[in-house]
Amino acid sequence: MNEPASLPALSCADDYDPNSMPVDKAREVIARFLSPITAIERVHVRAALGRVLAADVISPLDVPAHDNSAMDGYAVRFSDLKADAEVTLKVAGTAFAGAPYAGALKTGEAVRIMTGGVVPQGADTIVMQEHVKAADGRVTIGGGHRKEQNLRRAGEDLKAGAAALKKGQRLRPAEVGLIASLGIPEVSVYRKLRVAFFSTGDELVSIGTVPREGQIFDSNRYTIHSMLERLGCEVLDMGVVPDVPERLETAFKEAAGAADVVITSGGVSVGEADFVKELLGKLGEVVFWKIAMKPGRPLAYGRIHGAHFFGLPGNPVSVMVTFYQFVRDALLKLSGQDPVETVPTFRVPCTSALKKAPGRTEFQRGILGRDKDGQWSVRVTGEQGSGILRSMSEANCFIILPTDQGNVTPGNLVEVQVMEGVV
Ligand code: AMP
Ligand code: MG
Repeated sequence: MNEPASLPALSCADDYDPNSMPVDKAREVIARFLSPITAIERVHVRAALGRVLAADVISPLDVPAHDNSAMDGYAVRFSDLKADAEVTLKVAGTAFAGAPYAGALKTGEAVRIMTGGVVPQGADTIVMQEHVKAADGRVTIGGGHRKEQNLRRAGEDLKAGAAALKKGQRLRPAEVGLIASLGIPEVSVYRKLRVAFFSTGDELVSIGTVPREGQIFDSNRYTIHSMLERLGCEVLDMGVVPDVPERLETAFKEAAGAADVVITSGGVSVGEADFVKELLGKLGEVVFWKIAMKPGRPLAYGRIHGAHFFGLPGNPVSVMVTFYQFVRDALLKLSGQDPVETVPTFRVPCTSALKKAPGRTEFQRGILGRDKDGQWSVRVTGEQGSGILRSMSEANCFIILPTDQGNVTPGNLVEVQVMEGVV
């Protein structure tokens, strides 16, 4: 039997049923116990992709730095123009991007200006080149213009001293570019989250070894490694640990001593070789849940000597689903990202018939695509067994069937969640 937690705060705080924990409830409970990293390091902007800001990035300058033109055209004084008649102005010079007009614009003058060119002193309006007649060093401009049209003001996007980016933001290419645009060479980020992981099971061998009869290749360590890399974690691969209590105990202690987070796969069900549960009761504060979901029913969460612990099921698909649904968000939060949004879902018609029993959330593997009319729909990837890793490889999304949902008939709307970029 799965007893409730040895994690006191969890067991006291919640009246959950550990044998049938709803997905949302499990997520919510885990989220309460996550204490983000606080250690900070400085990195060059080039090495900042995927890192999480540990401090606001304050703009040292106005963006744009100068009043500049949004169009190719002519910079003029609005007071020189007539509302309903043409005027002719002398072209006094040019203001190209990076090569400003040196003087000040006098009454009766215009300056040829290109997009991004600094607006000359005295000018307050840009007239698009399509709206002028240019000949012999002069331009003729009709009526109907607005004061300050086509002009981008200094500091319009961002004022010097304002926060361009916020603490807790994960840096994507756009943010890296934004930091560079402010002339900032280095930023403060949280150190990477250290995650140690190992597979448990007597039947497992690593690639490079010839499996004896009854042995299989360990794949979970490779999927976990890949998912962690995508999340920007520092990974510590501790290999395969056999189902031997002493070996497991050593591995848990070593992992917890070296990392912020320990992730294992296998051994969390209640088979005879599933020692993980017993051991963890001794080493730390860990709760075991049977989540009301398919695949991925058994899941352990807790602490071992200050490290966070996720005990994932053994089946390769269950590993990915539980990682995706629980571990991902938790690791993002631990790495200092704030806010952490779960991956969005949306509804599309399902072209397959799906078997589904009410009472648990199912994460079927789907292929989201467009039909011949360009409409998006989803179909299921054949066999859905939790050992069939190919179903994950063929899929580009999860079809999430909520607890109360029964069978799906073709044409029904279902909720999907795209995997790209997340696993
Ligand atoms: P367990 O939860 O340890 O009973 O494992 C459930 C199933 O997943 C068994 O069929 C295991 O052989 C399989 N399994 C466990 N760990 C791995 C792994 N690292 N790679 C591939 N299959 C695994
Ligand atoms: Mg096992």
